[in-house]
Order: sequence, then C-alpha cells, then structure tokens
Amino acid sequence: MIDPTPLVGALPANKPFVGPEELARNAGITSLIRLGANESSFGPPPRALAAMRAEFERIAYYGDPEMLDLRTALARKHGCAIEEIAIGSGIDDLLGLVVRAYLAPGDVTVATRGSYPTYVYHVDAYGARLETVPYAENGTVRLDALAMRARETHARIVYLANPDNPSGTFAARDAVAAFVRALPPHALLVLDEAYGDFVEAHDLIVDGVHDNVVRMRTFSKAYGLAGARVAYAVAPRAVVTSLDKIRNHFGVNRIAQVGALAALDDRAFVRDVVAEVARGRDEYARIAARHGCATIASHTNFVCIDCGSRARAETVVTELLARGIFVRKPAAAPLDTYIRVTVGTADERARFGDAFAEALARSDTNANASR
Ligand SMILES: *Cc1c(COP(=O)(O)O)cnc(C)c1O
Repeated sequence: MIDPTPLVGALPANKPFVGPEELARNAGITSLIRLGANESSFGPPPRALAAMRAEFERIAYYGDPEMLDLRTALARKHGCAIEEIAIGSGIDDLLGLVVRAYLAPGDVTVATRGSYPTYVYHVDAYGARLETVPYAENGTVRLDALAMRARETHARIVYLANPDNPSGTFAARDAVAAFVRALPPHALLVLDEAYGDFVEAHDLIVDGVHDNVVRMRTFSKAYGLAGARVAYAVAPRAVVTSLDKIRNHFGVNRIAQVGALAALDDRAFVRDVVAEVARGRDEYARIAARHGCATIASHTNFVCIDCGSRARAETVVTELLARGIFVRKPAAAPLDTYIRVTVGTADERARFGDAFAEALARSDTNANASR
C-alpha cells in the first residue's frame, strides 16, 4: 500500500460529529428523536418542497455551476454584488475552502475553545494550528480576548460564530463592529451566522461587504434544508474569486439550488418557525427550572441546560439516548456541565421533558450507587 501524505497520515481518525444514525445503530435503536444537531423539526418551507419535487424530473442534468439564480437572489437580499456571493454545500464546505485558500501549513487561527468543531477539523487537515480562548463563565464569547489572541499569534483566520454554537449566546451589532475594528489587518474573520435567522436582521452586522470579513449563512437551520446541503458566504470579491478557484463546481446539486431559492421566498413560513422556536426555548427553560437546572439565554434553535457536573451531563446524554432521544453536549469547560438540546416540535419537547426527568433521576441513582 502506498502512503498518504505525511500530513494526512498523521491526522487522527476521529470524526468531528458522530451522526445520530451511527448512535442509533450502536445503541440498537431503530429511530431517534433528533434534538442533537440543531436541524429543523419544522421541515423546509412548503414552497421549497414543491420546487424540489418538480426539479427531480431534471436530475439527469448537472446543476448550474455558477448558481446564478440563487446568487442573484442572495445578492439582492444582502445588498451586495453577485460577485460577492459564494455558494457551497453547507457552511462546512465553505469553511474548508477558506482554510485551503488562506492558510499555509504552520499558520495560526483563533477561535473560542469548544466552539463549532468543524473549524479545527479543517485547520488540522491543512497543517495549520488553532489557538483558543475560553468562553466566559456565563457562556458568552470573549471578543476582546479573541482579538488580543489574534494579534499576539499573528493569526491568519479568526472564527466567530454569532449567534454562537454551542452556547447560544449572541453579540449584538455594535459589539461585533468593534470586534472587527480590533482585529489585526493580517486576519480574515470568518463570521459564522448559521443561526443568524433566529435574531432580528438589524441586530446582525450591517448588510453588505466588509473588508477581511467572510460572513457565512446556511439553509440548514431556520430554513429546514440541512439534508440538501446548501449555504453561502457574503465576502469581498477577492475572497469569492479565491474560493472559486478551488471549489467543487457541481457540488451544490440542482435540487438544493432550487430548494434554497424557493425557500428565500417563503418568508412567512420561516418567520413562523422562528416564533415557534422562541416558544420552545421558553419551554425548555421551564423544564430545566423544574429540576433546578439553569439554562443559558439562547438566540438560536437550541438551549444549553446545566446538569451541574460534567459526569452528570454525560450520563444524561447517555440516558436520553437509551430513551430514543439524541442530544449533544459541549465538550470544553466552562460549558462541559451542560447538555445542548435542539428545539423540536411541541410533541418532541414534551417527550424530551419526560425523558429528561428520568435521565436526571437515573444519573443521580448511579452517582449514589458509586459512592
Ligand atoms: C450547523 C452549523 C454549521 C453548519 O452548517 P451547514 O451549512 O449545514 O454546513 C456551521 N456553523 C455552525 C455554528 C453551526 O451550528
């Protein structure tokens, strides 16, 4: 057998995400309530579904590699030029392209410790390095510390998820603008707004293109199209040109393209989803409070619930899985005592509430038994 490159040979084989399908297989369960990956339980907008169904007839043909219809609609939405929009098969795809285009082996990047795992996954894969700054105790991102670390390390890329995953916290427009100004000129900011649809547009960074900022949005969360794999970046022309040179030209399939385009038109549906998600967040906070568990105020479609200790949180995740409910938990302190639960439908929320009570009771029984 010939060897892969030394870089790939040395990479660990662990995955950034173990999918719910694999978790179910390992647990010997056939179906899971999926509250662990922040997918939308409310599905795609009906208009998107209809457009995608119609498009199936043309699946024999490649999609438009320039994705012009979708880019035109997105440029209009964000008040920028078509040449300032890059589309990929998910933010995860775009994150890889940015790393490949802007990092050489040995380069440094900066992110919050325990933030979205795909950042470090791509950084490692290209032989670069991630420096981290911990969350504040209350789960907010320490923007000043991130900017300082970027200056100290001569970082080439800085990652900010806003609203943040896994904490759910949010930095408003003025704070982000000040952060952008505080970054050194050699750093490109990847501003990951995967959950941007769950906050008011006027609370996000001002629309249009900002120097050294690549703003990313996805159809996977509020738009309910995670399985279609489509997301985009709003970025300076030079960045889009660079990503264009290395992208997988037919990577966003034609079904995804028409689905995303039609979804943009179904604003009422997305508004209703966002409102229902807000109700669901309140419900989770009440469920948690009933058990004496604190939550972090969330600006996303998930809520972090404090289980009191890392061990208890891990047991709760395992016990929920045994009851057919998939959730995840933040990996790094200070958030490692929390579980992260996606806001599902009213029925899914109720089933979570029941299973959570049982899982907590079970984890306390286990803890007492081991004393
Ligand atoms: C879900 C998520 C993504 C991934 O989005 P895709 O477009 O489905 O790849 C990116 N960033 C954050 C912070 C997320 O939570």
